[in-house]
Amino acid sequence: MKIYLNGEFVEKDQAVISVFDHGLLYGDGVFEGIRAYNGRVFRLKEHIVRLFESARAIMLKMPWSQQEIMDAVVQTCAVNGLKSGYIRLVVTRGVGTLGLNPYLCDKPSIFVIADSIQLYPKEMYEKGMDVVTVATIRNHPAALSPAIKSLNYLNNILAKIEAINAGVPEAVMLNSDGYVAECTGDNLFIVKNGVLITTPISAGALRGITRDTVIELAKAAGIPFQEQTLTRFDLFIADECFLTGTAAEAIPVVKIDGRPIGDGTPGPITKQLIAKFHGLVQTEGEPIPLP
Ligand code: PMP
Repeated sequence: MKIYLNGEFVEKDQAVISVFDHGLLYGDGVFEGIRAYNGRVFRLKEHIVRLFESARAIMLKMPWSQQEIMDAVVQTCAVNGLKSGYIRLVVTRGVGTLGLNPYLCDKPSIFVIADSIQLYPKEMYEKGMDVVTVATIRNHPAALSPAIKSLNYLNNILAKIEAINAGVPEAVMLNSDGYVAECTGDNLFIVKNGVLITTPISAGALRGITRDTVIELAKAAGIPFQEQTLTRFDLFIADECFLTGTAAEAIPVVKIDGRPIGDGTPGPITKQLIAKFHGLVQTEGEPIPLP
């Protein structure tokens, strides 16, 4: 496997970062998780725009153009012969001193890994998944905005630990007001009385690219959609529920906190939107020049 690292392709075991890199020392950096399907990188431009916005929010000045990074992503797929898979694009603050001061880091580091990912067991995509709400609240937007896709994922990891300890693969995180924010690596949707609903970004969610895609698909299919603040009560009385994320794709949720959602099986609108999503990703995206 070849990794793109600071402008060069290097073998996996040569792809190393300094112990003085602030990405490692402080989680100071930004990243994207991107998918390739059928020889195309899905919504690459949208991922790059979000990466630049995350960088801007943490005052990390990108020395590369958006096009240069898009080319690096596509080339990393091509060099590895990757037709379908998962791409991790990371920009760190770079090498600095042992103090926090980001301005003492001369230049950011960038790397791209083109590999694969299986977030949840395959059968859960058909039968649905159980989730729990956890005690760890999502980062307060005034502390570290969940809209920034930063390398600092400890908030999510602490929630993930609670979920795994409770015997389920994913956690629903609430915000400091008790409203549903999102899951540790996914956005959350419910369906109630035929209306598709997701939490607003202001509730403490990342603006997921899969989330946006599903909203687009729902609108095109004439499914009523709204953003709405949600409580656990709203989840408990939902007819359907599913999660979206680049790594997770779209996965039905059939139980929350031990309570069945709807009739306890993936609902019709969920199944319809997941099918549409799988159709779309096969045809749309930045082509990878494969031999
Ligand atoms: N929320 C969080 C916290 C995430 O980390 C992610 C992506 N991994 C998402 C939501 C989903 O975003 P996207 O659909 O762009 O992958």
